[in-house]
Amino acid sequence: MADEIFVYIEKDKNGYKNVSLELLSGARNLKGKVSAILCSDYEIDNLKPLYLSGADKVYNIVDKKLGIYNNKYFAEAILKLIKEREPKIMLVGSTKTGRELAPKISSKLNTGLTADCTKLEITDVKGEEKLASTRPTFGGSLMATILCKNYPQMATVRGGVIKKMNEPYKEDGEREVFYPNIETKSKIRVLEFIEDTSKNKDNLSHAKMILCGGVGLKTQENFKKLEELAKYFGPDCAVGGTRKAVEKGLISKDKQLGQTGKTTAPKLYIAFGVSGAIQHIVGIENSDYIIAINNDPNAQIFENCNYKIVGDAEAVLNSLLNEMKKI
Ligand SMILES: Cc1cc2nc3c(=O)[nH]c(=O)nc-3n(C[C@H](O)[C@H](O)[C@H](O)COP(=O)(O)OP(=O)(O)OC[C@H]3O[C@@H](n4cnc5c(N)ncnc54)[C@H](O)[C@@H]3O)c2cc1C
Repeated sequence: MADEIFVYIEKDKNGYKNVSLELLSGARNLKGKVSAILCSDYEIDNLKPLYLSGADKVYNIVDKKLGIYNNKYFAEAILKLIKEREPKIMLVGSTKTGRELAPKISSKLNTGLTADCTKLEITDVKGEEKLASTRPTFGGSLMATILCKNYPQMATVRGGVIKKMNEPYKEDGEREVFYPNIETKSKIRVLEFIEDTSKNKDNLSHAKMILCGGVGLKTQENFKKLEELAKYFGPDCAVGGTRKAVEKGLISKDKQLGQTGKTTAPKLYIAFGVSGAIQHIVGIENSDYIIAINNDPNAQIFENCNYKIVGDAEAVLNSLLNEMKKI
């Protein structure tokens, strides 16, 4: 087995996905050579963002069947590389593709896969360095750290959980083109790729600042004010909400933060009338700074914040808005 960590890289028309670049940075803390796994139907030249984000090496798996995602072709190609190189760890983003591809690979290799991890670290188990993958369990009321007996040890991680490196890692690195000669036949033939543009493309998972509303913000009108306030802070500021706020129709489901919503790690997260339930906290706990406004001095969120304001969320929101209007 090689002391190598594979990170599956996803890309779309805008370039490499943030979650893949975050995983490269996170893999650097796991003691091993970090190798990006990139599938495509032609040799890709622009690998610099992968080295800058933490890759020592890029395996570009090239086959004419790897142009558009098809789980059978992608799984076979990656399996062939894994069997040849025997990495100790493989990490995949918890995207729609990753959630389908990772279990397909792990089941073929008869190895374990920990899904939707919130933390990855290396731990010593009887003299052996193992991947310790932490994720919420029992409905989010407990965090479980899971070890994997077999190799490669596999995990999926959601976007926004791991922070990208502050400093670029390096400009260039090793590169190997791998030809898997895919033999599998798929009954699926992709005729055309039509992007789903109907969904709200907000930047919640990767925003630098988040204004989050909970039930304590009470009305849809106040959530609109939250949007208005966010505009003053520019495109890197996004609005999110708690699950209860979503259930009450105060904000749309795609803006829910937390265990069953999105995970995020902004520089600043401000909670307006949020109680701070564990299922919410797991989605925002990696924020650099947390400010919470709640009228209950004993609110749970105050145990997880850097600054607290005991007061009415609507009043604080109105004051902030008025101040920003003056600028
Ligand atoms: C399996 C499972 C998954 C879940 N997943 C998620 C998830 O992904 N994300 C998520 O958010 N939740 C999730 N939940 C729900 C979670 O447990 C909480 O119920 C939810 O986060 C609470 O939302 P809230 O803080 O808006 O509402 P509440 O718990 O009702 O809290 C409202 C808060 O507002 C304060 N408040 C009231 N009035 C004011 C005022 N005028 N000014 C200031 N403060 C005020 C109150 O003191 C209170 O602290 C999940 C639950 C389960 C069981």
